[in-house]
Amino acid sequence: MNEKLQKDLTNFESLLEAVKLQGLDFLATLSARNTSTKALHQEPETLKIAGLGAFETLKLFNEKFEELIIASTGPRYWGFVTGGSTPAAIMGDWLSTIYDQNTQSVKGQGDISAAIEIETIKLLLNLFELPGDYIGGFVTGATMSNFTSLAVARQWIGKQTGKDFAKDGVSEKINILSALPHSSIIKSLAMLGLGSNNFRRVKVEEGNRESIDINDLETKIKELHGQPFILITSAGTVNTVDFDDMQAVSNLKEKYNFWWHIDAAFGAFAKCSPKHKYLLNGWEQADSITVDCHKWLNVPYESAVFFIREKYKVLQVETFQNSNAPYLGNPMENFNYLNFLPENSRRLKALPVWFALIAYGREGIQDIVENSIEMANHLGKFVESSEAFELLAPVRLNNVCFTLGGEENQSKVVVFLKNLNDTGKVFMIPTVYNGKNGIRASFVNWRTTKQDIEIVTSEMVNQISRIKENA
Ligand SMILES: *Cc1c(COP(=O)(O)O)cnc(C)c1O
Repeated sequence: MNEKLQKDLTNFESLLEAVKLQGLDFLATLSARNTSTKALHQEPETLKIAGLGAFETLKLFNEKFEELIIASTGPRYWGFVTGGSTPAAIMGDWLSTIYDQNTQSVKGQGDISAAIEIETIKLLLNLFELPGDYIGGFVTGATMSNFTSLAVARQWIGKQTGKDFAKDGVSEKINILSALPHSSIIKSLAMLGLGSNNFRRVKVEEGNRESIDINDLETKIKELHGQPFILITSAGTVNTVDFDDMQAVSNLKEKYNFWWHIDAAFGAFAKCSPKHKYLLNGWEQADSITVDCHKWLNVPYESAVFFIREKYKVLQVETFQNSNAPYLGNPMENFNYLNFLPENSRRLKALPVWFALIAYGREGIQDIVENSIEMANHLGKFVESSEAFELLAPVRLNNVCFTLGGEENQSKVVVFLKNLNDTGKVFMIPTVYNGKNGIRASFVNWRTTKQDIEIVTSEMVNQISRIKENA
């Protein structure tokens, strides 16, 4: 064995102890840490003949990077829809690294990891009150979940006219309808060879909404004259967290022949709030659903699931099977994840989620979700009550989409946000909504408290004074 490796093996315990203490220190000071950094990458290392060994490597890492690691897992990182990590989720994640399983087969090689994944999928279906006849699996994020779901939808479309797109390639334009798909859906259409331009945009409802206009949807469906199509709906848009009317779509499902996909990356967790769960009424009729776990469930990146109806198992296998590897057995008889999703080798991504669900239960997840909603409303009330700010849309769930008050201040939104983010106390991201420059604050982190909102609102007021002074 290499000498450095041998030494690290001997000192394994103190190495892991050092990382544990460093991690605890990071988490203990999380709230005080900057939410962004302006630092640029320093002098890159060159690969040496002799390595440093793990302990010296940790030292070097700390000198170069540790201080620059931002508090994206902390309570005031409101950009994108970025969750944190609960203690149980971190435990599961660490163990998943240590066990280093290659999560594939349920039976055959005698490894239990895929069974843990399936058990975790059942727990999630239960959490979301979805029926049991979905096949689910873990992928890196909602982007890959959308990709996986739409890949099976593509195969389904082909089968409607006796074609096998997985084998023979996509030979025709596929009909796709959507109102405001997430950027990752557009990206998936490009990756799948369906074409990112190739979807018909359905109108959104009137009255400052981002949800699909059901009448316009039905008009566009009729224009297809019975051809099969894919309908991509949103359970939570990222600007204003608007939901397509799931019940209305499920009614259409009885009349027309289409594949119904729901991107519920974070909106799925509305199911955990008794007050908001109605937003998902009817979603249990969907053919495929995307959910992120690294957002509102607060498990570490990379963690998302897809749910695809079990009756499409054959289509799913046709799309993802490793068909020239006879040693893998018949994919229809021996369930193996590598024939059901894009990746072949995979870590045990389910373990952090299993830990989180068992440790905190339905009630714990509900508390996280309701706290986020409360925090969003708290910030929303501040925005509404302040002359300097203006809501661009009502706070529908866990996002606040706002701007500076007054048309004349539109040109200052970007500078305001940049200065605010530069304080390092909060991170939000810019958006454009209804033709206006806006700002988005997204609440999913389990740590966020009212005190955090107050830290941010007082900083917002400071930045407004700065703008006035400079005017
Ligand atoms: C975040 C998000 C995605 C993309 O998710 P990743 O986990 O970043 O791949 C897709 N759809 C919606 C609605 C999202 O909020």
